[in-house]
Amino acid sequence: MILFWLVFLIGQHVADPRYHTGEQIRAFFDSVATQRPDLFVLDTIGVTDRLGLPILALKISDHPTEEEPEPRILLTAIHHAEEVLGAEVLWALVDTVFRAYDTDPEIRDWVDRLEVFVVPEVNPDGHWVVTSLQDTSWRKNLRDNDGDGAMDLEDRSDGVDLNRNYDFHWQGGNPDPASSYYRGPSPFSEPETRAIRDLTLRERFSAAVHYHSPAISMGEIVYTPYPGAPDFPYFLSLAIQFAGHLPKVQGTGTYAVLYGEYDVGNARNWQYAAVGTYALNVEIGSYLVQPPPESVDVFVNTQLEGLFFLLHRVARGPGLSIQAIDDHLGCPIPVQVEILEIDTLAPVPGPRISSEDEAFFVHRILTPGSYTVVVSDLGQSYFPETLHVEIGDTLVSLRVPMRAHQTLTLWTMPLGQRLEVRYYTPLAGQAEFLLFDVAGRLRGSWQAKVRRGWNRLLYPLPAPLPDAVYILRVSQKNRPVHQTFATPFVKIGGVR
Ligand SMILES: [Zn+2]
Repeated sequence: MILFWLVFLIGQHVADPRYHTGEQIRAFFDSVATQRPDLFVLDTIGVTDRLGLPILALKISDHPTEEEPEPRILLTAIHHAEEVLGAEVLWALVDTVFRAYDTDPEIRDWVDRLEVFVVPEVNPDGHWVVTSLQDTSWRKNLRDNDGDGAMDLEDRSDGVDLNRNYDFHWQGGNPDPASSYYRGPSPFSEPETRAIRDLTLRERFSAAVHYHSPAISMGEIVYTPYPGAPDFPYFLSLAIQFAGHLPKVQGTGTYAVLYGEYDVGNARNWQYAAVGTYALNVEIGSYLVQPPPESVDVFVNTQLEGLFFLLHRVARGPGLSIQAIDDHLGCPIPVQVEILEIDTLAPVPGPRISSEDEAFFVHRILTPGSYTVVVSDLGQSYFPETLHVEIGDTLVSLRVPMRAHQTLTLWTMPLGQRLEVRYYTPLAGQAEFLLFDVAGRLRGSWQAKVRRGWNRLLYPLPAPLPDAVYILRVSQKNRPVHQTFATPFVKIGGVR
């Protein structure tokens, strides 16, 4: 009975106004994005199945509407509904940027150099259960496991533990729907984990911090991805530096670093294995998952100091940034970047792939040393470049010119009166194809929408062309480049 009352009283702390509800968080994020569109862009990355609540991601950067070649970092809270302190840390982070960007050069420095994505509530439905005091120790989302349409809060038979629903050793998670650790019916069965998955695959984060609190386990810990990972020495080094800036609130010293469970379908291990993110969990606090309101500031301020250190560390290096550019056109092209000393040690996560936007950017957090870096384009149309890079105490940013070995091929189809054109372009847009004979006379012209990568285009010839040698010219007008390619001489005719 005493234990029951203790838990009850602790749980009621979340009713204090010092703890924000999801509604307040969403209103606050919306308000900063409206007031400072030069610093924040608010996006809805998913919607929950049960209550239809938005899962928000707030991007913090200078020029936040642009995709810049800057390291991307993900910060999340409330994978687990009752672990509410993380949302207070992220609220304080956003509030600090909002108030101090114009006056504090240290804040401005990392905001300008990074693209930081803040997801304050991965689990808005569960967070609502906790903050509306339906059940202040609720952990899961609200998936209707038994399909009865009711929210089965009392026996906890509904809901999925979102940090067991990722597709990395998902089978190792708990298969019992009534468990607070239920892994869900399949990997990524939940809209909440799909939202984090899709954002991760799009942005290819260099680092992530997922804020948790210890409901029953040990606290004041930074967890890394799995041991034996090829990047283990690098993310371990980052985690140790980060933890060294997180003094324990209870007791002395700083946060410990462990790798924790890695075979139960959790977010940090999936993110590392999928795209190479140095994803860390922080377990805030030591035993009270919702400490008394007057102590919240102590936890939040401690975490903010550590987080500022981490952001500065990623922004300033040591590390390596690469943007590959077409040596003729000057535009970025999609590439993979392989560091031979690290990435050849295991098939997963393998070389890093550039972000899926116009920046085509790859960033690695490293420690000082010598590295052999191979940059190869994803369309296999450029010669790979091998670089020997010395990393010291700073971020090394390289623009790597890549030379195309083939951009255009042309040949006739059987019967000789249709052209098949294969055309590679690093930019989507409108292209004009002009066919000349060797005397410079125009013998045919076509317009086509082309997509990034290889395009296969078929054209009927305007009139039967004699067997001869021709030149095909392609013009593509795109901001900011205007490209023109010409084939070497092309022979038409004689095709079997
Ligand atoms: Zn947790």
